[in-house]
Amino acid sequence: MLQATNLGYPRIGRQRELKKALEQFWSGRISEQDLLARAAILRQQHWQLQQELGLHHIPSNDFSLYDQVLDTIALVGAIPERFHWDGNQVDLSLYFAMARGMVHDQNQDEALPAMEMTKWFDTNYHYIVPEFQPQQTFHLASTKPINEFLEAKLLGIHTRPVLLGPISFLLLGKMYPHETKSLTLLDRLLPIYEEVLRKLSEAGADWIQIDEPCLTLDLDTATIALFQQVYRRLSAVSSSLRLLLATYFGDLGPHTPTILHLPVAAVHLDLVRAPQQLALALEEAPGSLILSLGVVDGRNVWRTDLDHAITLIREAVQKLGTERVLLAPSCSLLHVPVDLAQETHLGNELMQWLAFARQKLEEVVLLTRLHQETDPASLEQQAAARQALEQRWTSPIIHDPKVKQHVAAVKDHEARRQSPFAVRQAQQQQILALPLLPTTTIGSFPQTEAVRTTRAAYTSGKLVSADYETFLREEITRTIRFQEEIGLDVLVHGEFERTDMVEYFGKLLNGFAFTLHGWVQSYGSRCVRPPILYGDVTRPEPMTVRWSTFAQSLTERPVKGMLTGPVTILQWSFVRDDQPRRDTCYQLALALREEVQDLEAAGIRVIQIDEPALREGLPLRHSAWAEYLAWAVNCFRLVSSSVRDETQIHTHMCYSEFGDIFEAIASMDADVLSIEASRSRLELLETFLIVHYPNAIGPGVYDIHSPRIPSQDEYEQNLEHLLKALPAQQLWVNPDCGLKTRRWEEVLLALQHMTAAAQSIRQRQ
Ligand code: GLN
Ligand code: ZN
Repeated sequence: MLQATNLGYPRIGRQRELKKALEQFWSGRISEQDLLARAAILRQQHWQLQQELGLHHIPSNDFSLYDQVLDTIALVGAIPERFHWDGNQVDLSLYFAMARGMVHDQNQDEALPAMEMTKWFDTNYHYIVPEFQPQQTFHLASTKPINEFLEAKLLGIHTRPVLLGPISFLLLGKMYPHETKSLTLLDRLLPIYEEVLRKLSEAGADWIQIDEPCLTLDLDTATIALFQQVYRRLSAVSSSLRLLLATYFGDLGPHTPTILHLPVAAVHLDLVRAPQQLALALEEAPGSLILSLGVVDGRNVWRTDLDHAITLIREAVQKLGTERVLLAPSCSLLHVPVDLAQETHLGNELMQWLAFARQKLEEVVLLTRLHQETDPASLEQQAAARQALEQRWTSPIIHDPKVKQHVAAVKDHEARRQSPFAVRQAQQQQILALPLLPTTTIGSFPQTEAVRTTRAAYTSGKLVSADYETFLREEITRTIRFQEEIGLDVLVHGEFERTDMVEYFGKLLNGFAFTLHGWVQSYGSRCVRPPILYGDVTRPEPMTVRWSTFAQSLTERPVKGMLTGPVTILQWSFVRDDQPRRDTCYQLALALREEVQDLEAAGIRVIQIDEPALREGLPLRHSAWAEYLAWAVNCFRLVSSSVRDETQIHTHMCYSEFGDIFEAIASMDADVLSIEASRSRLELLETFLIVHYPNAIGPGVYDIHSPRIPSQDEYEQNLEHLLKALPAQQLWVNPDCGLKTRRWEEVLLALQHMTAAAQSIRQRQ
C-alpha cells in the first residue's frame, strides 16, 4: 500500500499559541517551564492530528522554539565565541541570546548582537545564519531530536525525526574570515551527525529524514561529490536506520543520477515545483531506492489537482511498485497557514479552492486511497475536488476577460519613459526647484500606539469612517508640518493608513482575499498573514490619491505619492498557480499604472514606487535569473513610464545586497533610487551600485533599524565620502528605509541632524 507522509508541520499553532507563549516568556510573564509545557502541548496536538489523519510517517524535531537552523547550531555546538559558551548543553537563555541578541542598556546597541538572519531559500521564512571560523570545532550540545522522538513515543506515536543535513547546514552558514569555505569543516562536523543518528537508532527510530535543500541550488561537482562521502558515512551508522534524503524548492537537475545513487533508503523530490524531474528520476532510481513524491504544494494555499497528482503517482508506481513510493507534500508545511477550517468569511467559492496545512495532509492521505480506487467515499471526494478545480478555470470571480486583453495588448513603448534621464532631470528641476543634495524620507513615519489602535478600531468597525478620516487627516497634517520645520525638501504623507506594504493595496484591488488566521511564521515569534491573490486584478477606484492630494494641499513643497510596486505585492502574497507569476505581475502593474496616472493628474509631481522585494523574487538557480529580471523590471517600468518627463519617479529597495543585479536595477530607470546602505559593512558590490547608478541615488545615511542617532558631523562625513564618488547633482539625502518602527523623538533628532548636514555641505559646494 502507498504510504502517506509529511516533511514538517507548522509550529505556531492554530491560534499562534507559540508566538504568544514566546512573547510572554521573553517579557517575563511566564516561566521557562510554562513555555516548555506549552510547546509540548503544541507538539502533541500536531502529532496526534497527523496520526488521526492517517499518516504513516509523522515528522518529529520539525518543531522549534525559534528556528530549525538555530536548533542545528545548538545540536552541534556551533556557538559563536562572543556568547562565551561554557561548552555544556545549550540552555534556553543562550539559545534565545543567539536568536535575539542581548540588550544591556536600553539606549545602546545590543551589547551582544544577535546572530544574522536571512531568508530561507526563496521563502519568506528567515533562518539564523550559522557563523563558523576556521578553527571551528563541534560537539553534541543538545539532544532535542532524541528528546522529541522519545516524547512522541511516550504518546504512542512513532515518528520520523527530521534533521537539517550536514552539507546544507554548512552551506547555509558563513565563515569568518571569508577566505575559507565552510565545507572544509565537514570532517569535523560528521561525527556529531553520526552520534545523533546512533542515539536516535538506540531510541528506536527507524526512518530519519535528512533535509538537503541546497541540492536545488547551483552546486559544483566537487560539492556534489561530497554528498557521496557524507551519505556513505551516515548510512553506515546503523543498519536499522533508513535515511530519507529530502530535497525541495526545485529539481536536482544534472545531479539527479548521483543523488539517486547515494546509499540512502529514499529520496524526496519536489514534484510541484519540478514535476519534470520525475521521468529522469524513475529512469535513474536504482533497484531498492524508494521515492518520496512531493505532489501536494507545501508553498501555496491551493487545493491539489488530484488528477494531475495521480498521473505522476501512477507513473512512479508502474516503475517502482507501491512499496517503493511514498506520498508527501512538496516541502515542509511550515510555509502555509495552519487550518482552513478557521476561515469563516471567505465565501464558499473561494473556500473550495483552498487547502492549508491540515487540508494538505488530508489530500496526501486521500491520494494514497485513490490509488486503490476502491472506496466510494474517496471517489466522492475526488469528484468534488475535480469539480472545484473546473470551476476555478471559469469562475467569473477569478476571470475578467478585459484584464487578460489589457495585458495582451501592452506595447513595448508603454514601458519606456518619453525622454532619457538627462532630459527628464532638467525638466523636473525646473518644476521642483530642489536644492543640491535634496533631502527626503522613504515614506512611513512612526506608527505610534495611537495610530495602530485607531486603525484597528476602524477595521473592526468600532470607529466610524468619518472619525477615522479625521484622525488620519490630523496625523498627516502634523507630519507635513513636522517635515517642513525640519527642513526636508520632498515630503511624504506618512502612510498612517497602512499596516504593511501590501494589505492596504490588496484591500482596494479586486482579485485579493484576506484570511482571519492565515498566519505563517516569518521568523521566531513573528508571523505574517499574506493576502491570497486569487483572481484577475483590477482597480475599481484610486487608492492613494486622496491622501496624497490632501497632504499636497497643505504645503508648497512637493509631496511624494507612495506606492508598493508590483513585484513586491506579488512576492508578499500567496499568488495564483493557474497562471505564471509573470502574468499576475503584469496585471498588478497595469492596475498600479492607473494609480500613477491618477496621482499625476491630481498634481502629484513626485511618485515613489517601492520594490524592496525585487531581489527576493530571484529564482534559486542562476540560469533562470535573466528571464525573471526581464519581466520584473518590465512590470516596474510599465507602472512608472506613462508619466510626463517632468514627473519624478522614485523607487526604494532594502533588505539585501543589490550589486549583483545592478544592470536590472539601472534598467528600471527610476529618476531617483533610494537604497539601504547605512550599515557600516557596505559591501563592495553595493559601492559599485551607488557609484555607477546612472540616475540620481540616495544611499541611506540613517540606519532606521538601530536606535542610534547619527550626529550632524557623522552625516556630513558620510555625505562627503559619497561625494568623492558621485557628482552632487546625482546625490539625494535620506534614511535607508521607512521610519515606522522608530519613535518621534528619535526621528526628530535624526532628521534634524540629517537636514543640517545637507545644508552645511550645500554651502560648501
Ligand atoms: N514606503 C515604505 C515605508 O516607508 C517602504 C518600506 C520598505 O522599504 N520596506 O515604510
Ligand atoms: Zn526599505
